[in-house]
Amino acid sequence: MQALLKRYPLTFRGLRSGIECREGWYPLIDRAAKQTEARLQKLPTEGKELPTSLQVKEKMGVLCWYWNQHDDTTLKTITQEAVKRSISTCEQCGRDV
Ligand SMILES: [Zn+2]
Repeated sequence: MQALLKRYPLTFRGLRSGIECREGWYPLIDRAAKQTEARLQKLPTEGKELPTSLQVKEKMGVLCWYWNQHDDTTLKTITQEAVKRSISTCEQCGRDV
């Protein structure tokens, strides 16, 4: 989990309490965060603070991924895709369910 936080510092810099799910979901979070990180690197700041994730956690068997801003549709799409994928991925072992 620490590795993910280090690998994607822009994406996870505002995270309140780490990534709160089992490791079966780490690969799908890794894939998504790779894309959000690339997106954040390209976003113009223009005096505005860059978006950051606030919470990444399991809730009722589904990945919940919250951002502090919701203006960027690319970030929204990437996040929604990861959430969708979590539904069909075992949180413990990462296999398709
Ligand atoms: Zn499993």
